[in-house]
Amino acid sequence: MFSSYFNESILARAKKNKLIDFKFYNPRDFVKVLKNKNQNNYRPVDDRPYGGGPGMVMRAEPIIHAVSKALSSSKGKNKKTKIILFSPSGKKFTTVYAKSAVKKYTDIILISGRYEGIDTRVVKIFKAEEISIGDYVLTGGELPAMVLIDCISRQIKGVLGKFESLEEERVSTSEVYTRPEILKYTPPGRGKKSKSYKVPKVLLSGNHKKIEGWKRRS
Ligand code: SAM
Repeated sequence: MFSSYFNESILARAKKNKLIDFKFYNPRDFVKVLKNKNQNNYRPVDDRPYGGGPGMVMRAEPIIHAVSKALSSSKGKNKKTKIILFSPSGKKFTTVYAKSAVKKYTDIILISGRYEGIDTRVVKIFKAEEISIGDYVLTGGELPAMVLIDCISRQIKGVLGKFESLEEERVSTSEVYTRPEILKYTPPGRGKKSKSYKVPKVLLSGNHKKIEGWKRRS
């Protein structure tokens, strides 16, 4: 899941340049192998919820072992490690959060849930911060982890090229244009006429003061 995104472009370059690094811990690797009815091996990481209710809950022990392993590899004099657990009802993740995380921590452990979530004792044991990436429910915490890693990595000095970081600071406009100056588009269907879409004149004026003003307003 992760390699398809992380092996591309900016994040791959940042890893190659040793500006960021990722390690993965699968809770299943910390569970004893059991045999099911058909004598097939399986490694259960979930169980029924106390108090009833639909779905399964991720057991605390495999996650505790996985997080402990991650913690042991992020030990060191200058290490400042943060533990985040994903939950749709957690604190909302923002760019402001990403910027402050880069200043405060050297290592971040991200705990991704599945099913109905993770046994709450994991949050209590590790004093993990519950973080949401938005007001919707996803199937698992893998996408939220990718979102955090992408957004936080962009804030690390050197991860974005000089040009990209300049653009990052100038995200004052949502409207952007490139060639051609006039784009003709004919909607599908018989008798539909083509329409011309022009680049705003100010962007072609060469007047940087006016252009900056337009960008701030748009
Ligand atoms: N009822 C459960 C709850 O409120 O936590 C839903 C769990 S959801 C199906 C499974 C996992 O996906 C969660 O444990 C969490 O790791 C992740 N997840 C889903 N939506 C998310 C969101 N908006 N932000 C962060 N994580 C989310």
